[in-house]
Amino acid sequence: MSRALVTGGAGFLGSHLCDRLLAEGLDVVVMDNLITGSTDNIAHLAGNPHFKFLHYDVTEYLFLEGPLDYIFHLASPASPIDFPTKPIQILKVNSLGTHKALGLARAKGSTFFLTSTSEVYGDPLVHPQVEEYLGNVNPIGVRGVYDESKRFAESITMAYHRFHDVDVKIVRIFNTYGPRMRLNDGRVVPNFIGQALRGDPITVYGNGKQTRSFCYCSDLIEGFWRLVNSDQTGPINIGNPSERTMLEFAENIKAATKSSSEIIFQPLLTEDDPKQRKPDITKARELLGWEPKVSLEDGLRETVDYFRGKLKEAGQL
Ligand code: UDP
Repeated sequence: MSRALVTGGAGFLGSHLCDRLLAEGLDVVVMDNLITGSTDNIAHLAGNPHFKFLHYDVTEYLFLEGPLDYIFHLASPASPIDFPTKPIQILKVNSLGTHKALGLARAKGSTFFLTSTSEVYGDPLVHPQVEEYLGNVNPIGVRGVYDESKRFAESITMAYHRFHDVDVKIVRIFNTYGPRMRLNDGRVVPNFIGQALRGDPITVYGNGKQTRSFCYCSDLIEGFWRLVNSDQTGPINIGNPSERTMLEFAENIKAATKSSSEIIFQPLLTEDDPKQRKPDITKARELLGWEPKVSLEDGLRETVDYFRGKLKEAGQL
């Protein structure tokens, strides 16, 4: 039986990945310090003999007994509200944490899977973003702590691949949504859905003309699985190329929630908020045979149901 370590496995995407790995018959160990993750996301796995949770900070020395076939390195705060509030933790987990995880991969002979990000492209001047585009990142901006440390993570991952011959895979994740996102995550999907369900104003930042492309979580995890089982190193973009403005997205959310909330405009949260973002997924299509399958309508239905439940639990509905 193969065994995988998932750093950040108590997070939104980490927990969905754990479910998939267990379903594929792997033993799974999670390391998470819970600064943005939550044991709620993995509570349904408690008692599963193939699953183990370790409350641990992956920037510390990593030790794990026994064989290890895969390390999926997902640990990192990833919401723009975390950039000004957890800047040092973000820089540390993506630099020191990636170094430690790579060291463990080297010692165990594991395949190392790095979850990088579309943020490596910064505020992109090339549209849609192809993997060859080198990006437009402001190293000293508020977003720089995330963007630059993820760029460093890609760099050290390739160094371990070239210099130490570690088998590596790098995925660049574009905006992804679904159940288990934090209610107070601050990103546009939980914000808009929470506001729409409560009947509060929907807060569009800036002029609302900036674009994003939203991928449902199960599609993303399918992309991970195909990449890890391929002979590709990457980086490969995984995301949904269906692009829309944030103003259009506010209308999509109103329709999905049947809400009569008004739409209001507020200042941008961070400088350098990318004006446009859409993955070019030619590589994923051609090399992995992957493309997203879940429509925005279907994905939002699941996500809205999840947030409705969470708001009821919190006594906000
Ligand atoms: N955004 C918004 N209202 C919100 C939250 C976010 O208009 O309440 C915008 C934000 O300015 C950005 C886009 O939605 O242009 C996506 O933001 P998110 O925080 O989800 O992640 P990002 O793609 O910027 O990393």
